[in-house]
Parts: sequence; structure tokens; C-alpha cells
Amino acid sequence: MPKFVDPSPPGHCIFCRLVAGEIPAARVAEDALTIAFMDLGQVNPGHVLVATRRHAENLYDVTPAEAGAALKMAQRVALAVRDAFAPPGLTILQANGREGDQTVMHFHLHVVPRHADDGIALSWPRKEPPADVLQDYAARLRATLPAG
Ligand SMILES: [Zn+2]
Repeated sequence: MPKFVDPSPPGHCIFCRLVAGEIPAARVAEDALTIAFMDLGQVNPGHVLVATRRHAENLYDVTPAEAGAALKMAQRVALAVRDAFAPPGLTILQANGREGDQTVMHFHLHVVPRHADDGIALSWPRKEPPADVLQDYAARLRATLPAG
């Protein structure tokens, strides 16, 4: 996971300044709600970030329209990455909160071209609880699920 942490105060975050054109970026695409630009870290060549134009801290704060626009833009970028860089794999990563490995507190998705043994790792410790526990988890979620 990236270790960069944006120290900017809220409202003046690095992505807001980028959207405003106050700092340079290698822009890839833009639409009414999102902007896509090259990640400075380039975990692999072709690594792009898709961010909302509006400052929203994370997935909880974006509107449904912004969430949809971000994934639509990520797909456009992924198709371009496939054609331009031909990676054998591709990962979409979206992090929320410091414990979720979010480092810039402005909603964004990573579009990451992937290659065998590229050093990217996500630990995935399966717990495999029994079926009644899964049913309980699902019931808890259904009880708080927003209208779709
Ligand atoms: Zn921002």
C-alpha cells in the first residue's frame, strides 16, 4: 500500500488543487463528475487514478451519480490501459479510511495494470464462518441497507 499521506487541510487537498489546475498532473480523461490522471507512484506503467471533481472524502460521501461516474470512467481507462500497455491483469482498488489504506482523503479509484510477480500484495485472511453467522451478517446489512 502507498505510504504517501496528503497533509493538506480539508478543502485544499491535493486532488482538489489538481482538479482546479493549481498543481500539474498528467491528465488522461475528464467528464462532468470525474477526472483521470496518472498516479505519481506508477506501481506499474499505466497506473491511473480516477477522482471525483467535487471534494468527497470517501465512498460514504460521494453521490450515487458520482459513484457511477467513477466506475464508468475507471472502465474507460481500463480499456485504454489494456490497449496501450497490454497488461495480463488489471486491479481496481478503492480505499476508505486510514485503516482501509486510504492515503489521500478525497474519493478516488486506482486502475492498476498487473503483471506476474509485480510485488503488489493484498493479504486475504479467510475466516469461513458457519452458515448461520453469514445469515446473521446478511440480516444486519438488510436492516440498514439504503434504498436502491
Ligand atoms: Zn479534495
